[in-house]
Amino acid sequence: MKDSNYLKEHNARSVWHPMAHPADSQANPPTIVASGDGVRITDIDGHQAIDAVGGLWNVNLGFSCQPVKDAIAAQLNELPYYSIFRGTSHPAAIQLAEELRDFFAPDGLTRAFFTSGGSDSVETALRLARQYHKVKGAPSRTKFLSLKKGYHGTHFGGASVNGNANFRTQYEPLMPGCHHIPVPYTYRNPFDETDPEKLAQKCLAALADEIAFQGAETIAAFIMEPVLGAGGVIVPHASFMPGVRALCDKNGILLIADEVITAFGRTGSWTGSRHWGVQPDMACTAKAITNGYFPFGAVMIAEGVAEVFEQDKTGKAAIGHGYTYSGHPVGAAAALACLAETKRLNLPENAAARGAQMYQGLLALKDRFDVIGDVRGGQGLMSALELVSDRATKAPIDKSRIGAVQEATYRSGTMIRVSGPNIILSPPLIVTEDDVSRILSDLATGLAAA
Ligand code: PMP
Repeated sequence: MKDSNYLKEHNARSVWHPMAHPADSQANPPTIVASGDGVRITDIDGHQAIDAVGGLWNVNLGFSCQPVKDAIAAQLNELPYYSIFRGTSHPAAIQLAEELRDFFAPDGLTRAFFTSGGSDSVETALRLARQYHKVKGAPSRTKFLSLKKGYHGTHFGGASVNGNANFRTQYEPLMPGCHHIPVPYTYRNPFDETDPEKLAQKCLAALADEIAFQGAETIAAFIMEPVLGAGGVIVPHASFMPGVRALCDKNGILLIADEVITAFGRTGSWTGSRHWGVQPDMACTAKAITNGYFPFGAVMIAEGVAEVFEQDKTGKAAIGHGYTYSGHPVGAAAALACLAETKRLNLPENAAARGAQMYQGLLALKDRFDVIGDVRGGQGLMSALELVSDRATKAPIDKSRIGAVQEATYRSGTMIRVSGPNIILSPPLIVTEDDVSRILSDLATGLAAA
């Protein structure tokens, strides 16, 4: 490996980083990670830290999951690539589709359409939703509804249903026909409502109002994350997603669950939709499906939606969509090994227990540090702290102060993620009680530096 100074200099001159200002990586050089072991990473200067980000919410099994590495190596030797476009298939994709069918059976999802990642999964679901209505003879159903603060990747469709201005404004005009409704975010909302259940009802009323305003017969689908991730870990009240399902049913609108973060155990349940007792019409997955070791995703499709396509006699259901890497054999092999490990280790159980420990610890930190305005999470290993410069006015904290928290936490031994005014915590689902205690104590050291 080149030496540390070479890497820092050449990163600054040649690499453009996603989700960063190109000039920023010169002013604030990134941490260059050289290796990973268990739940820990080591940077090129030899500093070790617990990765409380879990890669990017995806390394659920940690960095040393040998069965997944072995499955990848074996598949590379057997068949490193073949497509599953019309006319060909391969054993790894078939076996994975069968495993996913079992895994998602309680969610009513029985068919898999493979993709290369989360944004691709969202794009696939949006496109299939429009096609579903065309096949069914309702071609006017083309619009999409979603939540403000929702994150659905960065393709044009996904960015259009995205509910965060930062991901939208510089790329407009986006896709027409995408409309957003208020999100059940108790800390800040236009209704000034702090009661989670009442807020959920108000947001559902706003959804009903938007459906009536647009005209149900113009709407293809509603897309939401069962627990919002990148928008700052927003856990809706238990009545919210079932309420959305009921409104979608009443109005002939498909419900797409964006489970890119929440599937495979992160919320403490096997899927986010299952946690809320909801069966979506499609579910987008990616990230932990391969533990981050290979870019891969799948859209899972409900039986009722699948039947409309499969019984079509008009030819409209021919799928004019797919990726070179849809069903990539190496990704499929990795996913099979990940599913087996996730089940063997019963990861949702650990995510629930360690998530509860994390949430209690974060609430205790709020008593110690005025800079914490809001603590969110409590649903598995997805948590966030929203930092403020003044609790009374809820004025967001300065970028430099939250940067200081991140740096001091990292120096203490824990990597955290900063997203706007939020600190996001989404460690691997294999973390132990000691790991969570360490994350909390490093975070306390970091918060003292704000
Ligand atoms: N949907 C959700 C809910 C996500 O969190 C993400 C990624 N953070 C995406 C879609 C996009 O996934 P990818 O970055 O793999 O394209």
